Parts: sequence; structure tokens; C-alpha cells
Amino acid sequence: MNIHEHQAKDILREFGAPVSNGVVIFSIEEIEKKISELKSKEYVLKAQIHAGGRGKAGGVKLIKNKSDLNIEAKKMFGKTLITHQTGPEGKKVKRVYIEEASDILKEFYLSCLIDRDTSKIAFISSTEGGMDIEKVAKETPEKIFTTKIDLKTNGPSDEELEKIVSIFKFENEQKTSAIKLVKSLYDILIKKDASLIEINPLIVNKSNKIICLDAKMNFDDNAIFRRPEILKLRDFNEEEPAEIEASKHDLAYIKLNGSIGCMVNGAGLAMATMDIIKLYGQEPANFLDVGGGASKDKVNAAFKLILADDNVKGILINIFGGIMRCDVLAQGVVDAAKEVNLSVPLVVRLAGTNFKEGKEILDKSNLKILSASDLNDAAKKIVEAIK
Ligand code: GDP
Ligand code: MG
Repeated sequence: MNIHEHQAKDILREFGAPVSNGVVIFSIEEIEKKISELKSKEYVLKAQIHAGGRGKAGGVKLIKNKSDLNIEAKKMFGKTLITHQTGPEGKKVKRVYIEEASDILKEFYLSCLIDRDTSKIAFISSTEGGMDIEKVAKETPEKIFTTKIDLKTNGPSDEELEKIVSIFKFENEQKTSAIKLVKSLYDILIKKDASLIEINPLIVNKSNKIICLDAKMNFDDNAIFRRPEILKLRDFNEEEPAEIEASKHDLAYIKLNGSIGCMVNGAGLAMATMDIIKLYGQEPANFLDVGGGASKDKVNAAFKLILADDNVKGILINIFGGIMRCDVLAQGVVDAAKEVNLSVPLVVRLAGTNFKEGKEILDKSNLKILSASDLNDAAKKIVEAIK
């Protein structure tokens, strides 16, 4: 799960990290009463969307006069920002963060994330702040430092802390402050089950203080149940409506750009199904794992979810009945297909528990369903059918 910059900064503040004062507004009318909490003469208006690259897209604006706040905020609200992280459709700005402006002396980069390859916590530090870090890694890898911390320890040792911040070449107070920040990031990662915390840029201002100027945080969806205070920060406006609907039914669904809708049980089988669709020259419209013991209603919801996508030109259902029973699946599909007046080709491949009963339900349904004997046959048939 992602959260907004202003929410991430609240968490940073709670853990003692240096951030500027700021207020979040949901409408122009709120500026008047909230702005008195800020003490600076200059402000930064920051569009709150779940994507980086806002600066270049006009989503970060330096305001020199208080009187310009209203005018600029008005322009920002409702604007659709297209950045390298939003996709071509962009994201509409529905909340704006107003922060006390900083005088930047230099920008740095600092992040902390779960490194799944090594089962460690990786800290990435770089002198190239404010830039796209993937680009820095590719073009000037010597400007990036990665330090991996063993999860079994109680956080980075003194030596590791030194190593993480060494690339910044800080001294005295700045160094102490940077080391304290690294410890705070580690604490947030552990205590809030974050999977990524990125400060880009981390700056030194003209008073030589270090400040987290931008903040991005991701959290582990599998641990969110034990972090209700984080779940509360979820912003449904930022999520794909189909994925919100899927999460209500506890379905693992990810929308993709192809034209063949897939309904499969088990993540591995779902991946194999997507692969074989590609092998036959088409693209999957989604990843969908209905899970092990899905009920008829869950199958029904899953089927409707696939059909709600206008790009879907055909559907491939591939079920291996283990705990999942083929007859339950078949009934869910038949009910949903009748409710929504199915108009695209449907190929079904069933195997395993109650296969015969399942097939009978499909055969008796009067729906136009193509059955397939195996996965290969199923992929071939659906690709052929949508031509
Ligand atoms: P992003 O583009 O979505 O990553 O948004 P950031 O919060 O990182 O802001 C982009 C850039 O705007 C930063 O790299 C800074 O150069 C600039 N910026 C942001 N806040 C301030 C500020 O308080 N003062 C000044 N002078 N520049 C700022
Ligand atoms: Mg940034």
C-alpha cells in the first residue's frame, strides 16, 4: 500500500526525523484558516498524488508571495498530472500540501527497503539527489552506495551507520543528524512494516541543516492487518477501481493491458496461463487468482470484474480443482455469465475435484462455452476465438 507525501512526513516527524512544517488542504477554502500554522514567507505547493516526478510535471510550485497561494492552488486542484510514474492517463490532484519553503544548498538521496534477494534491509545513499535514482544507477553507479543490514540484528551497527552516510561527506552536526535519520528510517521500516522509504531529495539547507524534502513510503500489504493506523491512510482515489472491488472480495487481481481476461486459481497457474497466452501471440488483460476455496459468490464477482474491463475480447478460465471444486466454479461462472449477458468468447479448462459435475453444469447452461482439454489447447482456442 502507498501513502501520500504529507502522510509519510507525519510518520517521519513522529520518529524524530527532520521535516519542514506543512499543512494539507482538500479545497481552496481551507488555505485561509490553515496557513496561519506556517511561519515562513515563502511556501511550496505540492500536489499529493501517489507518484513521483511531480516537479517536472508542474506538481511542485515555489510561492514567493502569500497572495499567490490562492491563485496557484486553484490551478493545481483538479489538474491531471502526467509523470513517468502515473502512466499516460495521469492522476488528478485532489489534495495539496503547503509546506514552508526551504533554501536548498545541496540535494542528496537516501532510501531504505526490503531486499528480497538477500533477505536483508538495504540502505541506498547517493550524492545525486532530486534525480531519478534508476537513471543514476545506470549511468553513474559509483555515485550510489548500497549497505545491506542483516535482519537478525537490532538495526545498523555504528560501522554500518558510518558507511551509509559516508558518501554524503558530512561532518559534525550534519553527520550526527544524518545518522539519527538513518536510525529513524530503520525504526519506521520495522515498526510500521514499511517495505520502502525513500527520501529524494534529502537536502542541506542554507542554515546547514539536513531536511527530508520529499518522502515516499510503501507498506507490506500482508502485514497491514496489524497496522490499523497505516491502513487508515489508504486513499481509494489513488487506486484502480477494479482493484478496490477485487480487494473487497479478497481476490488477487491486477489489471494489465491485453485483451484476454484470465480467471485462474493459484498464482503459479495464473502466471503459467499468462505466459502461454503470450506464447500464442496475445496479451492477458489481467492477472487474477481466485484463490483456493473460492465460493460461488467469489467466482461470480471475479467473472464480473473481468468483464467490466472494456479491453477484454475473450475469457480464459483455467481451474485446477484441489480444494476448489469444479462444480462450484462452474455454477459461479454460469450465474455471472447470465446476469451480465456474456457476449465474448469463453474457453474453460477444468481439471481435478468434481470435474464431471462442473462440466455438466457448463454443458447444461446453454451458454456458448468452448471446453479445452489442457492448458495448451485452452490458450490456442481462446486466441483463435477472438480473431
Ligand atoms: P517529485 O518531483 O515528485 O519527486 O517532488 P519533490 O518533492 O522531490 O520536489 C521536486 C523538486 O522540487 C525537488 O528536487 C526540489 O528541487 C524542488 N523543491 C521541493 N521543495 C522545495 C523547497 O522547499 N524549496 C526549493 N527551493 N525547492 C524545492
Ligand atoms: Mg522527489
